[in-house]
Amino acid sequence: MIKQFINKVLKRKQTNSTLKVTVIGPSKHHIDKNHISHCALGVIKQLQEAGFQAYIVGGAVRDLLLGKTPKDFDVATNATPEQVKRIIRRSRIIGRRFQIIHVQCGQEIVEVSTFRAKSGKESLHQQVDEHGRLTRDNVFGTLEEDAERRDFTINALFYDPQKNEVLDYFDGVKHLKQKHITMIGEPIQRYREDPVRMLRAARFCAKLGFTLDNACKEPISTLNELLLNVPESRLFDELLKILLSGHAVNSLEQLRQLNLGSYLIPSLDNTLSDKQGALFIQQALLNTDQRIEKELGVSPSFLMATLLWPSLNLRWQQYLNKGEKTLPALFTAIHEVLVEQDEVLMIPKRFEGTMKEIWGLQPRFEQRSGQRPFKLLQHPRFRAGYDFLILRAQVGEIDPAIGQWWTEFQHAKPEDRETMLVKPDRPITRKRRKPKA
Ligand code: ATP
Ligand code: MG
Repeated sequence: MIKQFINKVLKRKQTNSTLKVTVIGPSKHHIDKNHISHCALGVIKQLQEAGFQAYIVGGAVRDLLLGKTPKDFDVATNATPEQVKRIIRRSRIIGRRFQIIHVQCGQEIVEVSTFRAKSGKESLHQQVDEHGRLTRDNVFGTLEEDAERRDFTINALFYDPQKNEVLDYFDGVKHLKQKHITMIGEPIQRYREDPVRMLRAARFCAKLGFTLDNACKEPISTLNELLLNVPESRLFDELLKILLSGHAVNSLEQLRQLNLGSYLIPSLDNTLSDKQGALFIQQALLNTDQRIEKELGVSPSFLMATLLWPSLNLRWQQYLNKGEKTLPALFTAIHEVLVEQDEVLMIPKRFEGTMKEIWGLQPRFEQRSGQRPFKLLQHPRFRAGYDFLILRAQVGEIDPAIGQWWTEFQHAKPEDRETMLVKPDRPITRKRRKPKA
């Protein structure tokens, strides 16, 4: 009776789970505890000491089993957000639809979420739209239910650092060894519930170098359209995850093979089927992957500016060929390409502004005489514009000598810069009014 009441208060779903678990001990999993964040270990220890279940979950367990150092740690527990907040210092509740806890340890944030139940029939706390997409699923659940609601078997592993054991409900460890990505449950239904899982499938294939199960691959060619119903902010977040995964080149190839790319960037298919366009994107993403490998920062605006550039440039050149002037032609092309993009996936305004600046600066790099280069050096987006110029030079879109000149000009001593200026083809003269007779 009391248990029923508690479950009702905590919105817990009643189930008689019959899932079988495989417990994998240290002799079989070889997880190196040095790869685990102290913050996550501390959180789990405190929750367990308070009498709750707590595990490392998701990508972190997957990466630990693969011998890699995870980039972040998620913890799952049967404690409610309120309970976690009371037990762990420096923790705060975030999110409204489904509350989770962020625990801050210096720069690091560990995400703690309460076990959640798998989407089932529509209920008070679960809603689906007309396409079967879950629009609300804030139901707490048991450990087994939490495993079941996860997307792929390799993402449904739970690691208890105190016992040094991995709990595996869906042969995730076997699939990791086989480099195999497969969905928990029925793929079509799981894609319908959340179409972003199609994009996640592509991202994990690229990131891990794994193969997607045929049963998970085939429905994508018809279900890809469901991405049109997903809130744009969520799609954009996923696009950024893909681009910043450190495996952007492979991810884009996966997206293309799975016919998903045009639901994120409508011009992408055309761009990639053009030799010069494909070369530009490849080079941009290769540079990005290398920067991420070296742990250097990457700007999402810069990346988005590169992805749309081949299509933009094509339009720009067409307007120039029709005799339009440089800047009006460029700005018309920018406008058109953004309208086309925003019809499918709106780029947040904070990124769009910077993208326009990066593009708008490109013709200004061609001017290397008079005061203009000095003014350009002072521009707040000079660095991004210059990096973009170098990319264009790398793929032979502009004369590499221009890129080289700017590299030298910006690093030259101020007194030497004057001598580097390029003489204008024709003398600059002011038109003088004829003196009145
Ligand atoms: P990454 O290394 O990119 O962070 P990840 O697997 O940890 O990969 P997250 O987006 O951080 O991915 O999600 C954490 C976990 O939450 C996943 O491993 C998975 O178990 C679960 N999850 C995330 N998104 C979904 C989803 N759309 N559907 C079902 N489960 C999901
Ligand atoms: Mg993660």
